[in-house]
Amino acid sequence: VLDVLVHRRNDIVPWDMAELIKGAPIAAAIEASVREEVSRSGAKVHLVALQAGEDPASDAYVRRQAQAAERVGMRYSVERLPASASETAVLDAVARLNRDPSVTGVIIQLPLPPGVRAEAVQEALDPKKDVEGVHPASLGALVGDHARLVPCTAAAVMACLAATGKDLTGLNAVVIGRSRIVGRPVALLLVQKNATVTVCHTKTRDVARHLAAADVVVVAAGRTALLKPDQVRPGSIVIDVGTNEVIRDGKRSLAGDADPAVAEVAGFFTPVPGGVGPVTVALLWKNAVEAWRLQVGR
Ligand code: NAD
Repeated sequence: VLDVLVHRRNDIVPWDMAELIKGAPIAAAIEASVREEVSRSGAKVHLVALQAGEDPASDAYVRRQAQAAERVGMRYSVERLPASASETAVLDAVARLNRDPSVTGVIIQLPLPPGVRAEAVQEALDPKKDVEGVHPASLGALVGDHARLVPCTAAAVMACLAATGKDLTGLNAVVIGRSRIVGRPVALLLVQKNATVTVCHTKTRDVARHLAAADVVVVAAGRTALLKPDQVRPGSIVIDVGTNEVIRDGKRSLAGDADPAVAEVAGFFTPVPGGVGPVTVALLWKNAVEAWRLQVGR
């Protein structure tokens, strides 16, 4: 199955380009297995997206989530608060959703209004309803190797790596970025797969020196074209998590943290858009079923 998920680009470019790890087929396979599990188990999943204020990107995300939830057989609704909502008001809404037995998962849509701390809101959530895997209890479970709700983006990076069919045991992996919900959990998941992991960040003295020994690079820095082709070892695996808004030909579009020319050097490469992003969304539904299981004790 994994072979089918990776598409060699030799139909459009010379054969020595990286194999592109496309997110769509991986996401479709995850969605299909979730749909099957929901119908087999009779899971009564009800996800609520908590959204405070209005943000065009967040609105678009909510619309896509609603459509996907319908496809996998889950109930999905949106709890809207005004842009003027205080942190107390947001925390009250979280407390209500925690108490509501009909709600099995809560997605906290970012950005939250100015002055509302995302971490405080995430920490207030019932860990069993933490479908995004961002609660400290979920992250702690990851450290203890017994996580059931893994942060979706980090899990998506691992799904893309799995799609290469490569065993990560003993490989040198460099993660660029140390954020709580992407870089750090990715590093832990790579260690679980027996990779030797280096985490680079803004205070790292010489990122290129670490990259020179990397068999696997995961770049999650939020900086367009940060990773250059001459920094990448030929044949290595490069997973680009970055989603940076750029203007191309007068139109808004997405660019990754890796220069697209990295594909000329790497052995495997995730495109942006169309790589890690769609897989992240599909894994939200997988976590939603897992959260339901935690609540019904299965
Ligand atoms: P963040 O801003 O919280 O963290 C960025 C990290 O990168 C920091 O730890 C910082 O030290 C490091 N960094 C920044 N510039 C660097 C540099 N020049 N050299 C070395 N390290 C550097 O961001 P985040 O939430 O971890 O997200 C990272 C990127 O991933 C963003 O582009 C974000 O939009 C994207 N993202 C994508 C998905 C997805 O589904 N594809 C999901 C979440 C985040």
